[in-house]
Amino acid sequence: MRYHFSGIVQGVGFRPFIYRIATRNSLTGFVQNRSDGVIAEVEGPEESIVSFISGVNKELPPLADISNILRKEIAVRNDKVFRISESKTGGLGKVLITPDIATCGDCFKELFDPEDRRYRYPFINCTNCGPRLTIIKDIPYDRINTSMSCFPMCLSCRAEYENPADRRFHAEPNACPVCGPSLELLDEEGKVLTEEEPIQKTTALLLEGYVVAIKGLGGFHLAVDAANDEAVKRLRSRKFREEKPLAIMVKDIDVAGRLFRIDKEEEALLKSPQRPIVLAEKRKTGAVSSAVAPGVSNLGIMLPYTPLHHMLLEKHFQALIMTSANQVDEPICIANREAIKRLKGIADYFLVHNRDILVRCDDSIATVSAGKKRMLRRSRGFAPKPVILKKSYPEILALGPQMKTTICILKGNFAFLSPHIGDMETPEARDFYRESLALIQKIAECQPDIIACDLHPAYYTTKLAEDLTSSRIIRVQHHHAHIVSAMAENGIDGEVIGLAMDGTGYGLDGTVWGGEFLVADEANFTRIGHIMNYLLPGGEKAIREPWRIAVSLLKEAYGDNWPGVAEKLKIVPKKNYYEMMDRVMTHRFNSPVTSSLGRLFDGVAAILRIRQNVTFEGQAAMELEATAKSKIGIILPFDISNTDDVFCLDFSPMIRKIVDEIMAGRTKAEIAYSFHLTLPAAFRSMADAIRKRTGLNRVVLSGGCFQNRLLTEGTIAELEKAAFDIFFHEVLPSNDGCISLGQAVCAGAQVIGRRIT
Ligand code: ZN
Ligand code: ZN
Ligand code: FE
Repeated sequence: MRYHFSGIVQGVGFRPFIYRIATRNSLTGFVQNRSDGVIAEVEGPEESIVSFISGVNKELPPLADISNILRKEIAVRNDKVFRISESKTGGLGKVLITPDIATCGDCFKELFDPEDRRYRYPFINCTNCGPRLTIIKDIPYDRINTSMSCFPMCLSCRAEYENPADRRFHAEPNACPVCGPSLELLDEEGKVLTEEEPIQKTTALLLEGYVVAIKGLGGFHLAVDAANDEAVKRLRSRKFREEKPLAIMVKDIDVAGRLFRIDKEEEALLKSPQRPIVLAEKRKTGAVSSAVAPGVSNLGIMLPYTPLHHMLLEKHFQALIMTSANQVDEPICIANREAIKRLKGIADYFLVHNRDILVRCDDSIATVSAGKKRMLRRSRGFAPKPVILKKSYPEILALGPQMKTTICILKGNFAFLSPHIGDMETPEARDFYRESLALIQKIAECQPDIIACDLHPAYYTTKLAEDLTSSRIIRVQHHHAHIVSAMAENGIDGEVIGLAMDGTGYGLDGTVWGGEFLVADEANFTRIGHIMNYLLPGGEKAIREPWRIAVSLLKEAYGDNWPGVAEKLKIVPKKNYYEMMDRVMTHRFNSPVTSSLGRLFDGVAAILRIRQNVTFEGQAAMELEATAKSKIGIILPFDISNTDDVFCLDFSPMIRKIVDEIMAGRTKAEIAYSFHLTLPAAFRSMADAIRKRTGLNRVVLSGGCFQNRLLTEGTIAELEKAAFDIFFHEVLPSNDGCISLGQAVCAGAQVIGRRIT
């Protein structure tokens, strides 16, 4: 019998895996890499073959992903043994670079086994776990092309590496205490404090409340004891990050369950080999300082994912703060010297090692909503695993948007996405962006000459598109890209109703879009409806000061009578601001028009006096969601109007009702909850109206607002009641991390469309 496996089956320990399953079932034959996948020919009794293939499906190595198995009966060749055959083509160009994976169960056992030759060796790994992407210098993925090249394997390690039956067969980062990397503890000047017992000494320093920068897989973390209030506050003030929640690493799943409320899906995510940060609700216990995440109930938690983490958390801590080591708006530190320089004044000590991190890769962040995994940031553990598409496309490079950006290269039916890069606001971030561009071109092994980018003329990524050599630039509207991205990962095409509920994106008419109802296919769209237009008085300022948006919403709802209402609500910080705001809005000084849902959230949070000023994007919206802890709520009124065949969703009636409810003394929790009930109802009414006009029944959801679990679950439930077919992200984030894929697929569809016509 011949099996042809395709998907992610090379460079992931797939051949030794097949070898083990085949020999276990006493089958003979061979396994071989081909340019289009892996071939296994097996001979033996029927029941052994059945047990073989079920073993393959059940026990697949963590990094492998079979997209297709072809089966063909072939003549018996009477092989005597089962062997791993060298590939004829060398598997050229098809060995995919895989993500970094958390320490596997086998390695974990060896790590704490006094009899094992890698007992307490912090760099233990095997084919099923350990660093991958983050140690890559070049392709193909061979030891000489990684940062392990300066560590020649000892005889024992080499024997494992060369033995097809061994768990470390062709494990490129294979190492042991004799031949591999080692740890050092440095002081804040970078002087070596000790090479003896550096983990024990680090533990002691953390117990004393010091901030220690710890080199991990994709960058440095800043660590402090999560239970130590003083230490957490010190870290916060040193990092100039007064309010943004800090991520926590918890010893194991039992401790996680004691400190946090986690359901089955969240537990599975926490324990998954990708080990993302998962948002979870804190129980009221003292093991985690309240300074970790003021104002919000959900904290980001993760389990240890390297041998070093397991050893740090082994005895003395239930939880450590492990926040990305960077200055505000800068990328995560990766090199030892870089860390010492850039973290001056933040970290007291540095626990480093001599295995270089060559690719920056932040921790991924995920959550669960509507019973499924949702990514908030796709990076370590997930990138650069390609998104497998249903169709093939020409080669396209898509540069992403301005914030939370990623880069995507389309090649055949694979979409290669870079790890999360972030916001393009600082020179350091832009350097990181260019590193990521070079990296993803290496990984995809191509330099496409068709480039897709955003419509926004001032984005760094748009300007870069114009600077790079290309045969063609295709500009894709931001919210169209959102919808196409969700379509692509769900493998659907043709016309759909798209709900892009978002912060901001450049619209076709030059206004700031963000609450969009589209009728879209992959190549084209029409804006069939949107949330009402309102002003952002002061432009960028309005984003940092949501009370300005509140004023603008009141002006929409009450016209010239807004100051009286604002005064009763006490939302304007200074007396003389009333006249100023009136002038700004009447003459539209620096006041772009927007239909953004994200900014509407900010405005409503300010009307409720939850948040007048923010220190990070999404803060007001997050706190509004956290406030909505009520069992009682009503659907607030809204209007749908229709002008020139465009539906407008008018929330002014809702704003007036919210004000009435505040005056009537309703709690913030009830009003915030009512707001979260109203949006899904309004979306359903809009989708109904669009279905009536177009006959379309498929609804695709995307946009940063759907990071809000209440909103997402409410919207899906409402649309289900109305019997829509609903599609939402599971592979990529619904925020701007998904834009590059949408840009790429949209551009690809346009290129294909033009060839045909
Ligand atoms: Zn392992
Ligand atoms: Zn060794
Ligand atoms: Fe967006």
